[in-house]
Amino acid sequence: MCESVRHGGDVPLDLEELVARACSGEPLDADWLRAVAAWPGERVGELARAAEQVRAYWFGSSVGFCGIVNARSGACSEDCAFCAQSAHHHGDAPQHGFLPLQAIREAAERLRQAGATRFSLVTSGKRLSDEDFARLLDAVHVVSALGLRADCSPGILDRARLMAFRDAGGGAYHHNLETGRSFFPRICSTHAYAEDVRAVREAVELGLEVCSGGIFGLGESWEDRLELALELRELGVCSVPINFLHPVAGTPLEDRPVLTKGEAVKIVALFRFALPDRHVRLCGGRHDVLGPQDRGLAFKCGASGVMIGDYLTLQGRDAETDAALARRAGRVPDVAGPHVNGAMRTMEEL
Ligand code: SF4
Repeated sequence: MCESVRHGGDVPLDLEELVARACSGEPLDADWLRAVAAWPGERVGELARAAEQVRAYWFGSSVGFCGIVNARSGACSEDCAFCAQSAHHHGDAPQHGFLPLQAIREAAERLRQAGATRFSLVTSGKRLSDEDFARLLDAVHVVSALGLRADCSPGILDRARLMAFRDAGGGAYHHNLETGRSFFPRICSTHAYAEDVRAVREAVELGLEVCSGGIFGLGESWEDRLELALELRELGVCSVPINFLHPVAGTPLEDRPVLTKGEAVKIVALFRFALPDRHVRLCGGRHDVLGPQDRGLAFKCGASGVMIGDYLTLQGRDAETDAALARRAGRVPDVAGPHVNGAMRTMEEL
């Protein structure tokens, strides 16, 4: 029997009721989500189990494995404070132009063999040149031919390019909002939050699968995290990547502490309850916050997917261990990938 804690001053948070509401299809209001954020850290295990119940209701035993390649790295015009690829900072990220197709094919094949069903082409910079966008579409064909869903993370795409990506057989358009609207100006000054929101909204309206989330541990508050969750819910994205800051030397956030495991688990729970039927994927930084002993927690805290293999500028861990840990937690790779924006799974589909 789940116990209750007080929240919002007077209202008790009952985990059983929280789970029931998250499985009902009715969105939880902000007070319920604030109560999740206020849940005591020493009892985070109970919250993780409740988040797992909600994940299991909407996603059954499936787990999404996805991978990425840094198809064009470094020399970015933007000044995101956490990022080693920004030309404004002094991180030591690799710098290279768009990778040859053969290198992309090999990276995708490695991850396919490791169990990934989706593979994203990630490029640094706010916008692609015409030449690089043409290379991206060529790469979509190469990745699709391997039987993988070819996703992309190419900065901001306008409507015409979003349609060209979709018509080339592309899968998800990935574009993170990074953090809450109020906190964003402290993280990035080279473009406006509204530009990112517009790109995400346009992609959703065009019927693309849209993957958009953020990075945590930048110094943002729980209210900032809630603001991001509610923005993503309003936009109707189908997948939310959760990244944790890995402080990189030479960036403005190089001295920030790594989040604790408990706080990271609570962040995943918050997004699971805010967007119960959408993919919540553990991505960059998960090895920093969970550590080798707790790596299996990735499959027990409400996340419906994990990124396997390497991250953008950091080495990941061996994907085989992730597959083994997922199996131990009773999870099987989801070959179908995420459902489209706005659509919920029925009980029969689970
Ligand atoms: S997060 Fe993306 S847009 Fe921001 S600096 Fe890094 S590569 Fe550039």
